[in-house]
Amino acid sequence: MKTRRMDYHVHTLFSYDGEQSVDEMCRRMLDLGVEEVCLTEHLDLGHPDEECQGIPAWDIWEREIRYCSQKYPMLKIRRGIEVGDKAECREEIKKYVAAYAWDYILLSLHLVDNVDPYNKDVFFQGKDRKACYARYLETIADTVTHYDDFDSLAHIGYISRYAPWSDEEKPVRYEDYRDAVDCILRSLIERGKCLEINTKGYTEDTFVPDESIIRRYLALGGELFTFGSDGHTTIQDYHLVETAKARVRELGGKYQVAFHGRKPEIYLI
Ligand SMILES: [Zn+2]
Ligand SMILES: [Zn+2]
Repeated sequence: MKTRRMDYHVHTLFSYDGEQSVDEMCRRMLDLGVEEVCLTEHLDLGHPDEECQGIPAWDIWEREIRYCSQKYPMLKIRRGIEVGDKAECREEIKKYVAAYAWDYILLSLHLVDNVDPYNKDVFFQGKDRKACYARYLETIADTVTHYDDFDSLAHIGYISRYAPWSDEEKPVRYEDYRDAVDCILRSLIERGKCLEINTKGYTEDTFVPDESIIRRYLALGGELFTFGSDGHTTIQDYHLVETAKARVRELGGKYQVAFHGRKPEIYLI
């Protein structure tokens, strides 16, 4: 079994917040020696912020992918989607996602009680750290148990990117929320879903989930990881992925997964 340089969480101009074209992203990835990327444009149906509701123009996206796949044959480009959950919209979301032939479906949660922590001033206003992290994890537990049609769970700890606390207090740690984290991890492991290591952390050189959660996933028998930079610009592409891989290897992680037509392809980390 071989290892591979892959980035399984990337956004381009087709995402409402993407700032790189598919072509720019490909060139940057090739400069970094990346062999495979998976585009994971946003689908955030029912997001309360209007600018986040934009849906990628999939037909043009498809054309771009074909063009770049021919232009850069040494880079495998996969077709993925980052599906943002919202309880009230689940039927609509599932129907939408089922209508396309994805290589990879990344399940994610950006909303807690219908507010995106990205809106720091509203979200964290007057909130206690423990209570708001607990609510965040309970919501992810609910998300995970209500979907089956996905391959990996994105960025547990997304909330810490925008949290107003000190760097020491920012991480969402296993020890503080054992029940909710166990519920999420067990649900993934039982169904053979991957845990995403997302290298856009709460500082330039941190990643999520916190190592305590990765350790717990491994202790419960979890083996499958995906790695993604969540790059929205060329500067962010593949940033810290090799560092995160080295750390997960040290913790005992062995396998990273690629997907083609929703079928897993296993590589060493
Ligand atoms: Zn996300
Ligand atoms: Zn993303």
